[in-house]
Amino acid sequence: MKPLIAGNWKMNGLLADATALAEDLKARAAAGGLACELLVCPPYPHIGPVADILSESGVQVGGQDCHNAGSGAHTGDISGAMLRDMGCSHVILGHSERRADHGENDAVVRAKAEAALAAGLIPIVCVGETAAERSAGQALAVIARQVKGSVPVGMAAERLVVAYEPVWAIGTGQTATPGDVAEAHTEIRRVLVGLVGEGAEQVRILYGGSVKPANARELMAQHNVGGALVGGASLKAEDFWAIATSC
Ligand code: 13P
Repeated sequence: MKPLIAGNWKMNGLLADATALAEDLKARAAAGGLACELLVCPPYPHIGPVADILSESGVQVGGQDCHNAGSGAHTGDISGAMLRDMGCSHVILGHSERRADHGENDAVVRAKAEAALAAGLIPIVCVGETAAERSAGQALAVIARQVKGSVPVGMAAERLVVAYEPVWAIGTGQTATPGDVAEAHTEIRRVLVGLVGEGAEQVRILYGGSVKPANARELMAQHNVGGALVGGASLKAEDFWAIATSC
């Protein structure tokens, strides 16, 4: 399976920035020949216009979150079906910023992943330890607990993406060492076998946390790394493209 390079635009830019970035990526994608799949996850109000621009480009579009209910009285939230309707193929779930800002725990993330699957989306389930947990020697235990609690049991492995994003590496310029990444991804793969069976080999496990053109190639070459979830560097088409061509 091809690696997946996903851009998480987070809460950045206005509509003109999003459409300019999408137009730039569309122009670069037109040349073809990428060895990876590409995905961008804009802020909600920009998803429709970005999806329109990228519709024939091969670059996929995703959401950054969805609710665990299909519809109803949930002011300010959006459903998986709404994302699908706007042209999304994927949705990021359980990002550490959502876990911290909105108190999302593993059970909530699992319920959201189930809702996303029901809506026809591929969930990108995020896990990762804090700096304190790593220095206490708890990194692998935390990651295993989050995967066990957040991934729907028995789901079809080919519908799942997991992202390992150590909290201390996000937006800090500090990247996990290739050895740490390989160790974490191997642990995630081991836990996934118990949850989704032998198909776990098919699950792409992305690394996220200060991925940039200068470190992408080495990180992507690690065992069990099936792509990247890129924050800051995905806001510049040139940098995102350089990462995509590192696969
Ligand atoms: P940065 O690439 O900015 O560190 O962000 C990573 C991230 O949180 C992607 O979801």
